[in-house]
Amino acid sequence: MSRVAIVGAGVAGSATAIGLAQLGVQVTLFETLPDPSPQDPRVGAGLLLQPSGQRVLEYLGLLEPALEHGARLDGLLGDTAEGEVVLDMSYHRFHPEAFGLGLQRGVLMGLLWQRLRERGVDWQTGVTVRAFKQDARGVELKGEGGASLGRFDALILADGSFSPLRRLLPVRQRVEPFPWGALWTLLPLPAEFPDIELRQRFRAARQMLGLMPVGRAWQSADVWPAVNLFWSLPLSELPQDMATLDLAAWKRPLVELLPECEPLLKGLKDPRQLRPARYAHVRLERPHHGCVLALGDCAHGMSPQLGQGANLALVDALVLCQQWREQPRQDWAQRFEHYARRRRAHWNYYSQASRALTPMFQSAQPVLPWLRDRLMGPLGRLGWVHGQNVATLAGLKTGWLFGRLELGANPWAG
Ligand SMILES: Cc1cc2nc3c(=O)[nH]c(=O)nc-3n(C[C@H](O)[C@H](O)[C@H](O)COP(=O)(O)OP(=O)(O)OC[C@H]3O[C@@H](n4cnc5c(N)ncnc54)[C@H](O)[C@@H]3O)c2cc1C
Repeated sequence: MSRVAIVGAGVAGSATAIGLAQLGVQVTLFETLPDPSPQDPRVGAGLLLQPSGQRVLEYLGLLEPALEHGARLDGLLGDTAEGEVVLDMSYHRFHPEAFGLGLQRGVLMGLLWQRLRERGVDWQTGVTVRAFKQDARGVELKGEGGASLGRFDALILADGSFSPLRRLLPVRQRVEPFPWGALWTLLPLPAEFPDIELRQRFRAARQMLGLMPVGRAWQSADVWPAVNLFWSLPLSELPQDMATLDLAAWKRPLVELLPECEPLLKGLKDPRQLRPARYAHVRLERPHHGCVLALGDCAHGMSPQLGQGANLALVDALVLCQQWREQPRQDWAQRFEHYARRRRAHWNYYSQASRALTPMFQSAQPVLPWLRDRLMGPLGRLGWVHGQNVATLAGLKTGWLFGRLELGANPWAG
């Protein structure tokens, strides 16, 4: 039986470990966190699960419980402090059955980690993989102090955008930490709060506030539905120690930008409720070398502007498993090469789109947001452009003009 090591139990590593284990592959999953828990604030706040990612969860049999916890969202409304509508999109207008699912991250990780355990995956937590060495017989992993973590037929790196292991892949790679990040958190939805979908407000590209309903927490006594709050900041302004943040002063520009958020901010009582987020654009000439493959953010990290990273990671897991199911006799090097060929157009589109759009929303740039405010709203009202915009948001595009993602058959069925 084939033995595969996966590094990182985030969305990419966990979904891939489950998928391969369901196909009979012997998987060992290494995770540096000693005691990963869906309640751990380090899993992050909320995310938008797109129709692309929803389909993968459906194939894994995990969509129903995700729907029970999350909030179905039809629209995205983004406007400026001056009242100009920049983004006004409806999934429903694009396709009558389409919607975005606002979800607490702990719910997605809780579902994936529960399934990992049910599938009996060898999940080694509190283990940091420090290096690997590939030879004709496979790949050996090294942990702390160079201690061997075992030999495997293949290795999958799913250790995120800032992976230090990626450098050991002899392929050309460009990793650009993004100069802006964010503070984000989950807050209880106040009873008197107006009905919102995904709501964003901008002041040029210097200020951006995002609110998104994300439903209930994972197996928690807290039954309140939550709202994910995202506040964009240049990295230089991200506090080093959250406890030192003056909360009252911090809230002021948010309320000035979007006065309706004031009752929501009452739920923010301690600056340590806020979590910093940093991201990087990652581009690899190819994500594989021999029997080693990079997957998820490790292969194609990008800014969260388009809300795609977790969805791309789920589709990565699906396509790798489809490749296994369709060509079970391929060796791992061939399988990784074919997988990368199938995934390339989808990654390229989102990588280029996120690169092009992010400075319009997070930068000190004056010209791009000025153009954004004048062009995006009117253009987005044209039927064809609206369809393209929602297809982009839904995670379904594989090219600027043409190209739709085909998710294919369920490799775990039957
Ligand atoms: C503010 C923000 C908002 C976002 N919103 C959305 C959204 O709405 N929709 C969406 O789809 N995406 C969103 N994303 C992107 C999404 O979070 C990521 O793309 C996704 O989580 C990537 O998953 P991953 O498994 O590739 O990496 P990660 O989640 O980074 O997981 C990597 C794992 O590897 C482990 N690890 C690291 N190094 C080692 C090591 N040496 N040994 C062992 N284990 C290791 C880490 O502990 C971690 O568990 C957002 C991101 C941010 C920052």
